[in-house]
Amino acid sequence: MEEDNQEFFWIKSEGEKKLATENLVVGNQVYKEKLITKKGTEYRLWDPFRSKLAAAIMNGLEEFPFRNKSTVLYLGVSTGTTISHISDIVGPSGIIFGVEHASRVARDFLDRVATHRKNIIPILQDARKPKEYFSVFGKVDIVYVDIAQPDQTEIAIANCKMYLKDRGFLFLVIKTRSIDVTKPPKQIVEEEIQRMKPSFDILQTLDLHPYDKDHAIVIARFHN
Ligand code: SAM
Repeated sequence: MEEDNQEFFWIKSEGEKKLATENLVVGNQVYKEKLITKKGTEYRLWDPFRSKLAAAIMNGLEEFPFRNKSTVLYLGVSTGTTISHISDIVGPSGIIFGVEHASRVARDFLDRVATHRKNIIPILQDARKPKEYFSVFGKVDIVYVDIAQPDQTEIAIANCKMYLKDRGFLFLVIKTRSIDVTKPPKQIVEEEIQRMKPSFDILQTLDLHPYDKDHAIVIARFHN
């Protein structure tokens, strides 16, 4: 096993080096991912075809600010695949506020992920109404947004203005097709970046191909 850092790991499985996180809840699987124990520590393989943050790492993500004790606001947790790996990374002293508005997926998220992981605080709310997240306290280190909405950039900015620390990081997943199917994806990403520029320094933009079609991720740093 190669230890690149303490946040995520590269583990040999079936003859290939695969991305993994150290399992915070030993024995617990979230999406039937493989569990591998090496030298008494259990790891969960992190599938880049199922998680856009893993796809970003595979595609050359330069800045990875998620670490032990980080605080994160995550918009659009769905059934909890990606947030479960962030939960492994931030560990028992970190906190992730996980926002989801669809009650059907939120129930799955609660059963499969949030009830097992004490560092996740589920918030069943619309990300368009950040003032109504009564359980968020203080400001967070990172805002992660994956909500596939046409106005996702405005939603992300409004959430950052309320809850992100100055110089904190924004990870914004852009589903180019949910914004405008008639425009080329590159143009859409560029337009979203222009919207972010007044409040953010843009660090990197990554296309998530071949792991995810029609998605890009923008990593930016917030300034008031
Ligand atoms: N981030 C997840 C992962 O990697 O495991 C996948 C997220 S999925 C593409 C988008 C999710 O955003 C859906 O579950 C959807 O219900 C949620 N969503 C969309 N609009 C939202 C809103 N306004 N407020 C909260 N959640 C929203």
